Amino acid sequence: MNTHVKPSKLIKGATGDWEVIIGLEVHAQVTSRSKLFSGASTLFGAEPNTNVSLVDAAMPGMLPVINAECVAQAVRTGLGLQAQINLRSVFDRKNYFYPDLPQGYQISQYKSPIVGEGTVIVDVSPTEQIEVGIERLHLEQDAGKSLHDQSATDSFVDLNRSGVALMEIVSKPDMRSADEARAYVSKLRTILRYLGTCDGNMEQGSLRADVNVSVRRPGEPFGTRCEIKNVNSIRFIGQAIETEARRQIAILEDGGSIDQETRLFDPGKGETRSMRSKEEAHDYRYFPDPDLLPLEFDQAYVDELASALPELPDAKKSRFMKDYGLPAYDAGVLVADKETADYYEAAVNYGGTKRDPKLVANWVTGDVAAYANSVGLAVAQTHLTPAQIATLVDLISEQTISGKIAKDVLAILISEEKEGDPRAIVEARGLKQVTDTGAIEAAVDAIISANPDKVAQAQAKPTMLGWFVGQVMKQTGGKANPQAVNELLKAKLGI
Ligand code: ADP
Ligand code: MG
Repeated sequence: MNTHVKPSKLIKGATGDWEVIIGLEVHAQVTSRSKLFSGASTLFGAEPNTNVSLVDAAMPGMLPVINAECVAQAVRTGLGLQAQINLRSVFDRKNYFYPDLPQGYQISQYKSPIVGEGTVIVDVSPTEQIEVGIERLHLEQDAGKSLHDQSATDSFVDLNRSGVALMEIVSKPDMRSADEARAYVSKLRTILRYLGTCDGNMEQGSLRADVNVSVRRPGEPFGTRCEIKNVNSIRFIGQAIETEARRQIAILEDGGSIDQETRLFDPGKGETRSMRSKEEAHDYRYFPDPDLLPLEFDQAYVDELASALPELPDAKKSRFMKDYGLPAYDAGVLVADKETADYYEAAVNYGGTKRDPKLVANWVTGDVAAYANSVGLAVAQTHLTPAQIATLVDLISEQTISGKIAKDVLAILISEEKEGDPRAIVEARGLKQVTDTGAIEAAVDAIISANPDKVAQAQAKPTMLGWFVGQVMKQTGGKANPQAVNELLKAKLGI
């Protein structure tokens, strides 16, 4: 829990400072080949109504049968969130009518969820870490989808998603800014992806959030919250919070009060608008689903799943800092995506020899990440291999090429020789650094004799050395060993 508020987190209103309080309900689609209570496929993008069993279509007399893999995924997720695993949980019916909900109720968990309280450690910035409490995680079914844009006169219903397993992960109201909420969702997504329990694909709707926002004067009790439904990108979550907080502040400063209600965020207009108020809120008439027994398992089952969990991002980050001596920031950036972390380790240890871990980190998070970003891919999805990056770093460390030439070699790997070996490229194109002092000396002498005025200036002001270094580099096509150039120049100029 954040008890102390940083002034930088406060929003300035016309009448003073306000604090924003945020709690998120994240819906994460469980990675599983079949649905929560039926054997139908969960494959995304299938023809409408082709992945629908009689259970998903709610044909009379059909009975749900729990999918053990979905249960295991929920337990794994709970373990990854350092949360209480409940050995007994109950499925309830949440009753409401909607055209894409043929059962007339959603099977969910209400009073007894499968996972209880937990914690997520969130890096808000390189220097700020917060803890966000998890209230609960429960399993529930997704609904179908109404399609209103297929015909001018009719709406259609696609039940492919009906019955797909979701985990609803409810946070405590522990976030205090849009940045904190964005960082929390990113971290949650990273954890789920490491665990393999949700693919985290927000464009396909595998991860979406209901965002609860309220504001208060610092030190006052929590204010009334509004819930913004179904926000489906991390950027929109941030925008929705900022927009909603400002709307509430304006109302309160005007002497008004906040009605607890459900709202929708419209990214196009940059505003939230009311969907339904608390008075119209559904009374879902929850009751235990008589078709399903309480879900029970023993501690041995939980322990078995725990022992098979992969290394999670926090542990990997600590290990990268310890084993590779990386700063927390570099380690954090690398472990944010598991494949990037694996790529990095493959490059550091390529060929069974360990190379400078910090130099490799600089390349992976710097030039390689920038290229990956420019083509809309993750680092590990690009054609650049860990072997190529390792070789590039070796060439620099051996002083065969300078860092600047290495960038040129990377550009060649990117555009001309996608499968090229950096060492062969350097050889074939004569990019080897000139360490032969004779050749460098010739260049140094030529520059010195052509610029007597600059020589006099440099002797009076030694920082002029940089100008000479630049000239020598130019003359040698950037291939002169910079250290040798520096030493020779200093000696010849007597500075
Ligand atoms: P409900 O059962 O009505 O959905 P919950 O207590 O489950 O209410 O809270 C739902 C979400 O709202 C949680 O993520 C919680 O952290 C958040 N929340 C609760 N109170 C506030 C508040 N005053 N301001 C912002 N978020 C809040
Ligand atoms: Mg709720």
